Parts: sequence; structure tokens; C-alpha cells
Amino acid sequence: MAPRRGLDTLSQAVKDTLLWSVRDAARGTEPTRPHKAETSESDEHKRRSATGQRPDPFAHLPEMSEIRTQKAVADLLGVVHPFFRIHDDRAGATTHIAGRKCINFASYNYLGFNGHPRISEAAKTAIDRYGTSVSASRLVAGERPIHRALERRLADFIGVEDAVVMVSGHATNVTTIGHLLRQGKDLVCHDALVHNSVLVGANLSGATRRSFPHNDFEALEDLLAHCRHEHERCLIAVEGLYSMDGDCPNLPRLIELKERYDAWLLVDEAHSLGVLGPTGRGIAEEFKSDPQAVDIWMGTLSKTLSGCGGYIAGSTALVEYLKFTAPGFVYSVGMAPPLAAAALASLELLVNAPDRVAKLRDNGRLFLELARAADLDTGTSAGFAIVPVMVGDSLRAVYLANRLLDRGINVLPIVYPAVPERSARLRFFLTAEHEPEQIRFAISMVAEEVAQLARAGFGLKMAAAVAKATRPRS
Ligand code: PMP
Repeated sequence: MAPRRGLDTLSQAVKDTLLWSVRDAARGTEPTRPHKAETSESDEHKRRSATGQRPDPFAHLPEMSEIRTQKAVADLLGVVHPFFRIHDDRAGATTHIAGRKCINFASYNYLGFNGHPRISEAAKTAIDRYGTSVSASRLVAGERPIHRALERRLADFIGVEDAVVMVSGHATNVTTIGHLLRQGKDLVCHDALVHNSVLVGANLSGATRRSFPHNDFEALEDLLAHCRHEHERCLIAVEGLYSMDGDCPNLPRLIELKERYDAWLLVDEAHSLGVLGPTGRGIAEEFKSDPQAVDIWMGTLSKTLSGCGGYIAGSTALVEYLKFTAPGFVYSVGMAPPLAAAALASLELLVNAPDRVAKLRDNGRLFLELARAADLDTGTSAGFAIVPVMVGDSLRAVYLANRLLDRGINVLPIVYPAVPERSARLRFFLTAEHEPEQIRFAISMVAEEVAQLARAGFGLKMAAAVAKATRPRS
């Protein structure tokens, strides 16, 4: 069992003192009396029996107690958790949270298409014609013209032979990778920061899974040189634009490696379609590479294309194989008509409105330049649509996100385990709808808040120091 560390080793009373000292020090306020820590497992059990509810069998899972501990610590720190915030309306460059308007940097509505009148109209027309669901798998329930129209348009836009759409972006990676690779025979090499859906797909396949350090193609080459010959099929999986760091892989180098080692290359374009390349065609356009040199283009419809679902684009045989055999396609319902229509209308707008792509690129560049000028640590971001601001630990990231919301800026913290603890960050998503003044205002607020926390020395280190000082001698 792992040794108990940090806050875990303290008694509740000491924890209270510690956590409230940290909170008060960070706020620069007078010490406040701690309130009782939030519900424990047995409190919850008592509450349910008192109200005549059945005991919840999942409440006793060890994973639940971890969630409860995190919640209790946050409560003790007076840090409201920033997840599942309720937005009152469409989230674009601005959004309303609890009736208050704020500048929004927390959605993937990159080109501002979600809510565009033409797209909403297309979705409504599709509902009137086909209803809200196709009610079964396309294989058995038959096609709606809108599905094929979307697939054809996607393939043409990306520059490959064909495409297939599925009902979830995450499930698209899971079923495609899980289905194409085989246990005991094949190899998946992936960037260490690749999306969870790639990892789940690779694990599902049972193939040998090896990761290489982020964007380190020397390490990938080493891996291929040592392991490739032991396997039949080999898949290299990367993202076109990394969702946590906002940087890109060197596509020409990857194509060269995959050809030399006879591997398939999958590029997840969830965050790069509509973002990279002067006309938004993605990383191949950015690097002026031949899109057909990549074996498997994967992407989502939930971001730039303002729908929901995923796609695989590539050769005719790849698409045909998936359509007839991939469990997540064959045994799952076809895409809901309004979503397919929304994605198709978005794609048409994208083709006809490259000015939005240019505006997004300008916004990303401006955000990055201003952040650097303010001495904020933006990691390896290339300044497209995703710019992290590194703040060093989870406690600081959550606290900062809440402070910024108070000042009219909605941005989410990314904390352990999504990223290593020391890389906790605020992650800013830009859209084509942001105006330069909004970006300037946000950067000045972030810089002020980060400086204030640094002055207070707020963070887990401070928590640990106070813990040491207040630990009772045994
Ligand atoms: N791939 C990447 C890189 C993602 O960031 C995401 C989700 N943000 C997905 C796949 C899954 O897509 P979806 O949310 O549309 O299911």
C-alpha cells in the first residue's frame, strides 16, 4: 500500500487549523472559524436511512471515498469546486453563469458556430423531416441522406476518400482502435499526452501499448526500432493539436517514421479541425502535407462543427471495414438527424467563411503574446486556440479559477490526475468570437491574480509547511 502522505496523515482538528490558515493567508484576511467538514460516508448513510432511502451500494467504493476526501478538503479550504457550473444559455465568447455575464474561455465552440442561425435552422428542419432519432443502427434501420451527405462532405474537406460518422467522439476512438488492433499480435505507440479515448481504445484492443514522451520523435523512433519487428500491425497515435498544452506534433516527421517502420498513423483532430491550416482543414494543411499520407484521421463533431459525435476519415477500405464490423458503429444507433444536420451546416459555413479561422488564429496569437509579455508561463503552447497558464499545483489552479470567475472570467482549472500535479494549470480556449479587448482584460486579471497568490505563497507547499508546523508531537 502506498505510504500515507500530506493532509492524509493529519487528525481532523489539525487539518481544520491547517486548511483554514492556508485559506486565510491566501486571502490576506483575519482567521475565520472552521465549519464542520462536509459529509462523511457514515453521515451520508445515516441521512439516507433517516429519509427512508435504500443504502447506496456504490457509496462504499474506495474510489468514492477519494472523491469525498477531495470534496471535504475543498470545503475546508473554502474553495468551491469549479466543475459542473451551470450556464444559463449558449456559451460563446461570453456566457451567463448564475445570471451573471462573464467572458468565457471554457468551451470548444472554436468558430462560434454553435447557435448560428443557419445551423440551428438546419437542425430544426432535420427534426421536422426525420424526427429526433433514427432509432436504430444505420446498418439495419437504413440510411438518412443527411448521414451520407455529412460523410462525403467531411472526406472532401479533409482530402481523403471517405468517412464514417459515429455517435460520440470518445467512442469513435475506442471502437476504431479497439477493433483494428489485436491482442498478442499488434502494437500501439502513442504520445504520452494523447487523449483518454485513445488509451481506452488501445487497452480494449489488448495490443501491446507503449507511450513515448510528448512530441519526442527520437524516443518514438527508438521505440519503433526496438519493438516494431515483434508485432504484426503497428499504430502510432497522436493529436493534431493537444488539448491540454496547445502544441502540435511535427507531422512530416511522423509521416516519415510511419512509412519507414510500416506503421499506421492515426491523428486525432478533435481540436484542430477548423483551427489549424489557413482554411481550417487541420494539421495536414498547416504543414502542407498530403492528407492521404495519414492512414486514419479521427475527429469530433462536438467542437468546431457544433454537433455531437465523431468521425473516421481515410481510405475507402478503412471506412467500409468499420461500417460493416466496428462494434461502436454496427451495434449503435445512427447519428441523431439534428446533430448530423448541424455538423453538415457547420462544415458548409466553414468552407464559405475562412475569415473565422483567420480571426481565431489572430486571437490565439494575441493571447499568447500578451500572456508571455505578462510573464505568465504558457508552457509549449503554439498559440492557436488553446493556451494553458501553468500555475504549479491543483490547489492554486482551482483557487485561481474561482477568483477569476468573481472577476467576470470563466476559465477551468486542469488538475491532477488529468495532468501531473506540478503542471496544474488554467486552460484557456479561444474562439473566433472573442474581441481583443476581452483578451487584454483577461490577461491583466490573470496576471494580477497569479502575482497575488505568488506573494501569499499560496498552494500545496504552503499547506505542507503549515501542516508540519501544526502537527501535534506524539
Ligand atoms: N479526442 C480528443 C483529443 C478530445 O479532446 C476529445 C474530447 N474533448 C475527444 C476525442 C472526445 O470527443 P467528444 O467529446 O466529442 O466525445
